[in-house]
Amino acid sequence: MPELNSGMLAVDEALKSVLLGIKQLDYEQISIAQSLGRVLAVDLISRLTQPPSAVSAMDGYAVAVNDIATIPVTLKQIGESAAGKSFNGKIKAGQTVRIFTGASIPQGANTIIIQEDTEKSGGGIIIKEAAPEGKYIRPAGMDFKKGQKLLKAGTRLNARNIALAAAMNMPWIKVIRKPRIAILSTGNELVLPGEFVGQDRIISSNSLGLAAMVSANGGIPINLGIAKDDPGSLKNAVSQLSGVDMLITIGGASVGDYDLIKSVLGEEGLDITFSRVAMRPGKPLIFGNIFGTPMLGLPGNPVSASVTATLFLLPAISKMLGAEDSSHNTETAALGRDLKKNDSRQDYLRAKIEINKAGENIVTPFAQQDSSMLENYAKADCLIIRQPFADPLARGEIVRIVRLD
Ligand code: AMP
Ligand code: MG
Repeated sequence: MPELNSGMLAVDEALKSVLLGIKQLDYEQISIAQSLGRVLAVDLISRLTQPPSAVSAMDGYAVAVNDIATIPVTLKQIGESAAGKSFNGKIKAGQTVRIFTGASIPQGANTIIIQEDTEKSGGGIIIKEAAPEGKYIRPAGMDFKKGQKLLKAGTRLNARNIALAAAMNMPWIKVIRKPRIAILSTGNELVLPGEFVGQDRIISSNSLGLAAMVSANGGIPINLGIAKDDPGSLKNAVSQLSGVDMLITIGGASVGDYDLIKSVLGEEGLDITFSRVAMRPGKPLIFGNIFGTPMLGLPGNPVSASVTATLFLLPAISKMLGAEDSSHNTETAALGRDLKKNDSRQDYLRAKIEINKAGENIVTPFAQQDSSMLENYAKADCLIIRQPFADPLARGEIVRIVRLD
C-alpha cells in the first residue's frame, strides 16, 4: 500500500481501501409509504401510461378547430367531461362539451377553449377567442409510458421520486436493507448526557452525533455504550458482536498509554488495513476487519470523529446501500482571508460560507481549528480542503470545499 511520510496513508488511498472492504447489502420489500430515504435495489419500470388518455389541462370547452375558424361563434353544448367521468359521445360540427382539468378529451374535439374566453348565452356557448389544434391538451403518455424505466437502482428516494413511483402504481418496492452500524465509545472519562458529570469526566457527545449521522444517511445505529480503557472492558464490549454490518469505535486509536484499540482488539483478531491517515483532523484513523465485520476506529476528539466519519463512514454506508455517494463532492469558493502554507497532512478546515453582493460564495475558515471544538464545528457549513504541502493563499483566491450535511 503506498504510504505517505512516516507511515501515513493519503486520504484517497485510505478511502479506496475502506471501500474495498465493504460490500453491498441484500434487499427487502417495503411499502412505498415507508420508503423515504431508502435506496432502490432494482430499477423501477412503470406499470402504466400517464395520463392514460388525452386529457384537458384546463377548465373550459372541448371543441374542433374547424368550428372556430371564425370567431366569435356560438356552439351547442351537448354534455360534460369531468375527471373521473368522461363524456361518452362524439362531438359533431357546431357542438362542444364542457370540460374540466384532468378529464378525457371527447372524440371529435382537438382543442380546448379556456372558460375565460367563453360566454353562456341561452342554450349556446359563445367562443370569443380561437385556439390552435392541441392547445391545453395533454396527450396520452405525456408524462410517462408503461414499460419505461423511470427510477434507477441506487436512487435514494426523496419526496419527489416517491410521488413518481406512486404514480407508476408501485405499492411495494425493493430497497436495500438498512446497514446496521454498531457504535462503541471508549474512555474512562466518558459519561452519558444527563449523568452526573464529576471531576475528570466529560460527556460522550460523539456517540450521539455519529448515531444521528448514521440515521440521517440511511443506516441503523446500534449503541454499544462506553467501554473503559482497560483490555477486559474493551474485549467484553465486542465479544458478543454479531448481526452488524460495521463496527465503529471512538477514541483509543492513537499512541497514548490508554489507546488500546489496536493492541487489545488486535489480540481479539482485528486485522488492520491501516491505522494512520495523512489528514487533519483525524490522523489516528483505523480501518480493519474483526470477526468478519468491517471496523472503522475513529479518533476520540469530537471534530476528528465527525470529519473522519463524514469522509469514510458515509461513503462506506453508501457502498453498502449501492447508492451514489456525495460526501466527497467538492465545490469551489473564494477565500475570505489568507491561508498559510500547509504541511504534510491534508487539511479539512472548518469554515463558514457567505454570499457576497455579487452572489459569489465567500468561505472563511474559523480562526481556531482545534479538533475538540464542537461549537464552531456546529456553526460550520463546509470544510476547506487543503492538499498536503499546499502553497499559501491570499484572500480572494479559490479553494475547494466539501459541504457538511
Ligand atoms: P482519545 O482518542 O481516546 O485519545 O480521545 C481524544 C479526546 O477525545 C479526549 O479528550 C477524549 O476525552 C475525547 N473523547 C473521546 N471519546 C469521546 C466521545 N465519545 N465523546 C466526546 N469526546 C470524546
Ligand atoms: Mg481515550
